[in-house]
Amino acid sequence: MRHSPVSILLRRALISTCVALSTLNACSATKFLLHGGERAKSHIRPEQPGPYVLIFAFDGAGYDQLMEAINSGKAPAMAGMLGKPEGNGLYEHAYSVPNTVTILPSTTIAAWSAIFTGSPTAWNGVSGNEWFVREDMKFYAPVPVSVPDMDDNRAMILEDLVGKALKTPTLFEQAGVKSSVSLNPVYRRADYFTAVDPISMVALYTEFIGRGGGENSPEKMDIYEDLDKRSVPKLLDGIEDHGISKIQVVYFPGIDLYTHLASDPIPMEVDYLERVTDPLVAQILAYYQNLGILNQTYVMIIADHGHTPVPRDPKHALGSETNEGPTDIVKAAGFRPRKFVLNPGKDEQDYQAAFAYQGAIAYVYLADRSTCPNPGMTCDWKRPPRWRQDVRPVARAFYTSNKTGKPVPQMKDTLDLIFARVPTPAGQPTMEYQIFDGHRLVPIQEYLTAHPRPDLIQLDRRMQWLSAGPYGNRSGDILLLSKSGLNIPIQKRYYFSGPYHSWHGSASWQDSHVPLIVARQNYSSAKLKQIVDQAAGAQPSHLSLVPIVLALLATEPTQAPATPASLGSGPSATPAAKSQ
Ligand SMILES: [Zn+2]
Repeated sequence: MRHSPVSILLRRALISTCVALSTLNACSATKFLLHGGERAKSHIRPEQPGPYVLIFAFDGAGYDQLMEAINSGKAPAMAGMLGKPEGNGLYEHAYSVPNTVTILPSTTIAAWSAIFTGSPTAWNGVSGNEWFVREDMKFYAPVPVSVPDMDDNRAMILEDLVGKALKTPTLFEQAGVKSSVSLNPVYRRADYFTAVDPISMVALYTEFIGRGGGENSPEKMDIYEDLDKRSVPKLLDGIEDHGISKIQVVYFPGIDLYTHLASDPIPMEVDYLERVTDPLVAQILAYYQNLGILNQTYVMIIADHGHTPVPRDPKHALGSETNEGPTDIVKAAGFRPRKFVLNPGKDEQDYQAAFAYQGAIAYVYLADRSTCPNPGMTCDWKRPPRWRQDVRPVARAFYTSNKTGKPVPQMKDTLDLIFARVPTPAGQPTMEYQIFDGHRLVPIQEYLTAHPRPDLIQLDRRMQWLSAGPYGNRSGDILLLSKSGLNIPIQKRYYFSGPYHSWHGSASWQDSHVPLIVARQNYSSAKLKQIVDQAAGAQPSHLSLVPIVLALLATEPTQAPATPASLGSGPSATPAAKSQ
């Protein structure tokens, strides 16, 4: 087990680093300043008139789990926000889009990146919780899955690591209005970003990453709800200090961290949404109400993925022993694997294969090994691998091990599908992944016609988003999809990470079906549905959030804007407040 002792040491090292960082206001190269739990740009825009958009970003809240909480009667703030159900996703003053799907992988950092840019992964460049940029031989792990190092997690919170990696404009750049973000990793060009004390935030993630092997006592699980709870006063203080933003993102990561570790993940997530999340939503809605601007505010809810219970043991956690399983396969195919660390040492640069894990999906990156045949030689990663000599032998080794247990018994019956493609020359957009059927590459649509898989939702469309584009090589040269989904027994589900009770990342309905709700207390569902449908089209997805928000911002301004005098001074005297 690599986790627990390492994480304790790391945590100690990390805390001292963070203290040093947080005492130096201008320590990072960004335009942001750090003071307390908040980082603000030097120039924050003045308040702007409504309409306002308040986005609740729930990490890991699947559609069915959120709806169960809302319908239970135990989540009165969210239920009240929607009003009486009218059927087909329509509510008295809300529209809950019934069929919104995630990008692939249905995994946190890639998902929020697609949600808050509106662009597919192969174009925005952020392909997972961790990924490898072959041209630079650089591994990124803002939420580490296969590596123990927390440096990038710290950089995600303190130095805008995800924003720096994104190749397409964020919502905040596209909207060009005053924006603020609480906790979400995508905050580039928002006016300001609020977080709980960054030291304890990184420590929480460290605890979480290290938790794979240990037991989870109920008290220890409280730290995740503390994270969500403590973020709210910070964001409200931000509004007090800097005025209301046209776009406010309220991100709750605790839901996901908690569910990964929950012994009975699905009902416990519903309970969390009722017990922890709903009162926090109530608190923020009450604040907007007191400012007198709730009548001018579109309130949205979106999530990055759902959760699928899995067996929490090393047999099903294919990444728990990093020197076994997938690593054995690339070794059997004659490749030297990359060490599972963020930054390998000077004498560890001779790797020919690298992995990045995303739960139900794993990326395998391969070098043209003719550039580095002998140990000690560094491969030319700027060149793509060769299909016949590099990619195909590895794809075949995964295929036969999955089918027969040879050469690697541990991988038998663990994989659902193996994707690969003929590499494109360096600098050119990659082609979409195809399915390796043991002999040849088959286009996804052609494969699905011959082997229908209604359980893999919009597979072709979503794999295209992931793999075809200027940064399509960030999802590897081979992509492994583990067996997953609620439609198969739990003992047959596998995932790439240390052991947890629940994971996601797959193309299954449970992982991929997410809430997308737009509410406004003084608007009818028909009016909201019209705006949303026009912006999102017939197949709503993560990529629909940006066009929906832009459309909402373009609707008519209503009533008087919030005034600085109304901020933080209890119920305001604006006409909007009086009418409530
Ligand atoms: Zn997530």
